[in-house]
This record gives sequence, structure tokens and C-alpha cells, in this order.
Amino acid sequence: MFNVVAVPILNDNYVWIIESSTGQAVLVDPGSHKEVLAHIAKEKLKPTAIFVTHHHNDHVGGIKSFARKHGNIPIYGPKTVGNGIVTHPVHQGDKINVRGFAGEFTVDHIPGHTLDHLSFHHPIQQLLFCGDTLFNVGCGRLFEGTPEQMHDSLTRIKTLPPETKLFCTHEYTLDNIAFAKTIEPDNQDLLDYEKEVIRQRENDEPSLPTTVDHQLRINPFLRCHLPHVKKKVQELSNTTHEDDVSIFEQMRRLKDYH
Ligand SMILES: [Zn+2]
Repeated sequence: MFNVVAVPILNDNYVWIIESSTGQAVLVDPGSHKEVLAHIAKEKLKPTAIFVTHHHNDHVGGIKSFARKHGNIPIYGPKTVGNGIVTHPVHQGDKINVRGFAGEFTVDHIPGHTLDHLSFHHPIQQLLFCGDTLFNVGCGRLFEGTPEQMHDSLTRIKTLPPETKLFCTHEYTLDNIAFAKTIEPDNQDLLDYEKEVIRQRENDEPSLPTTVDHQLRINPFLRCHLPHVKKKVQELSNTTHEDDVSIFEQMRRLKDYH
């Protein structure tokens, strides 16, 4: 089993550090380097690779400084990331073997938040690093992609095995729950979960990772097909469209203005 640790950086980002039993470490989206360097030193880890989900600075901003200290480790990500940061561009369907880590990571292209957005999946250990595409009880903003693209990307995440652990990059959960309650005020799973997250956050614990199974029950953006969700979104956005993508699009817009 890999150990996956959250290192909080910036306002509300997490750098996920995947640690092997032999002390190797893969860093996911190091948007800042100081906290990551401190963790690596404290735990005596050996950085072996970096994964980058997309080009936003809060996901890549720490890489250059980190690489200056830790030399030539491969940096996997979309080729669109600026300044030659990515040394190993990867695409949909690529497989990555990282020294010290049994099994493969597979790459999926999941556009919507940005056009270049990738996820890194370890099917054997059932881990998915999904960047800013899916959040706990929410999803990323559509900065570059279309609602169709984002809906399709989320649908692909939905179809992973239910126990798959989802490692999102931001701690937006309480804010997302507040919005989700406007769509599903009677969702008991959501109401119960809110209490748990309040407790976690009071203790300064991350509300992540989550699982596919849990998100299917509490994340309104994965529930656009449900009749009561459609009805609520139509009511709140004053529209009559009822196909899943239109409901998703209106829901995302409601969240933008929430
Ligand atoms: Zn982003």
C-alpha cells in the first residue's frame, strides 16, 4: 500500500505526496516548494517524480525551485504547461512506471476546468489524483472547457470502481456543501456529512480524500440525472432545459454566483 499525505500550501491547496514503503515519493501539483521540502526532509523521503494535472500556477509554481534542490526527477504532465517545466509530456491512455512504486499509473485527459487537464490513476491501489476537475461535493470552474467536456470528464470519474479514493487539490468542501444544500436540502447523507466536515475542519484535518461512492451520494454535480435535482435547478435558474448537460451547465452557473 502507498501512503498518501496532504501537505497544505497557499490558501486552500493540498500537495499530495504519494509515499512508497521504501521511502520514495511522488509529488502531485506542488504549487509551492517550501512546505513540500520541509515534509520531504522531516520524513526522509526520496523524491522520485512529479505529476502535474494542469497549467495553473497554484499547481506548478513550486516546481522550478523544488527541482533546483532535488535535481533531475521526471516531471509528468500536459505539454501545455509553460516554461518547459514538464520534462515528460503525457496524454490520454499513457502509462507511467515510477521507480519504487509497484503497478502503473495511467493518465486520463479530463478537460473542462482547463483544456489540458489530466488525471493520474493507480487502478490497483484505486487512487485517482483529479486536480481541479472534481472537488469534494463540487467541481472545478469552467475556465477553458465547455459544459459538455466537463460533464463528460465527471461522468468518466463516476464510472470508476466505487471504492476509488479521490484526491482533489482544494479544500472547498464546506463552501461546496453550503451550495449543495440549496440543490438538495433534504439529502440526509449530505446533512450528516456536513457535521463530520465541520468537526474535521475545527481540528485542522483535511476533508480529503473522498471516494467515488460517497460523491455519488452527496455531490450535486454528479446527480444531474435525478428528477428532483433537475426540478430544483430549473426552478432556481428559471429554465426549462432538462437534459443532463444543460442541468449541469445551469448548476455550475448557480454555483459561480452562490
Ligand atoms: Zn486550476
